[in-house]
Amino acid sequence: MTTLAGVLGFPVAHSRSPAMMNAAFAALGLDWRYLKLPVAPEGFAATAAALPGSGYAGANVTIPHKEAALKLATERGEEAAAIGAANTLSFAPGGSIRADNTDAAGLLDALGEDPAGRAALVLGAGGAGRAAVWALREAGAEVSIWNRGAERAAALARELGVAHAARPESADIVVNATAVGLSAEQEQAAVEALGVTTVEAATFVDLVYGGEPTALSRWAAGRGARVVDGVEVLVRQGARSFELWTGCEAPVAVMREAAAQPPV
Ligand code: NAP
Repeated sequence: MTTLAGVLGFPVAHSRSPAMMNAAFAALGLDWRYLKLPVAPEGFAATAAALPGSGYAGANVTIPHKEAALKLATERGEEAAAIGAANTLSFAPGGSIRADNTDAAGLLDALGEDPAGRAALVLGAGGAGRAAVWALREAGAEVSIWNRGAERAAALARELGVAHAARPESADIVVNATAVGLSAEQEQAAVEALGVTTVEAATFVDLVYGGEPTALSRWAAGRGARVVDGVEVLVRQGARSFELWTGCEAPVAVMREAAAQPPV
């Protein structure tokens, strides 16, 4: 019988995960199928609880369900518990539901360099910013966080024991974890919205993806930064979810090629 997995979110219509995961299952000859699972917040807990009895071995979780996913789990991975959000649920035959966070490790995989001892600036204090700050801090970077709403950044900085930047400043590694800059045409507007006009970065990671090149990745490349795009981060977090569910090494190149295509 085909084993099922999927992505729980609201909305998920434009998710690239089904193409990416189904390509990975096919490449390894696994009889698995990955589906979009659109579910509104009020239906999340009941839907997630029903999946194990409906042939599902696991699910990814995206906006706005990552905190709820952590709450409903019966087992929590260390990263997920520390970050306060889960993006991967794994269903065991005995009925347990395990929650993991692969966003943090996926970001470090995508980064492709050791951030230990380096200055890292995270722009954005939402869910993605929180996972990025935690991941970089755990990896030994000197992290500071900036957010449009300063209170939110100050609170996260206090909670995770990192610095709060009153304005974006140059750093070895800059991560855009805001929702700004989907379309490259809006480059100037995005740079101004984040106040990064004079910021320099050796490496720039843009978590935003969907309109490659994004406004900020184009801006950063123009200033000489090495750019890691949001598709690579998506691929790397997905690869880690894939490995948790299947126990097989993820075919990263296959996943990258599938995720690069805009969803139809
Ligand atoms: P979220 O929790 O809703 O947080 C949104 C963040 O964007 C907040 O920091 C918010 O600042 C900031 N923001 C929104 N509009 C802004 C504007 N006009 N100017 C300045 N800041 C603005 O969302 P999230 O889950 O953290 O996701 C953030 C982005 O990362 C999204 O684009 C998402 O698609 C992407 N993402 C990518 C991956 C990946 O695998 N590549 C994974 C996760 C997320 P305020 O607090 O001031 O409102």
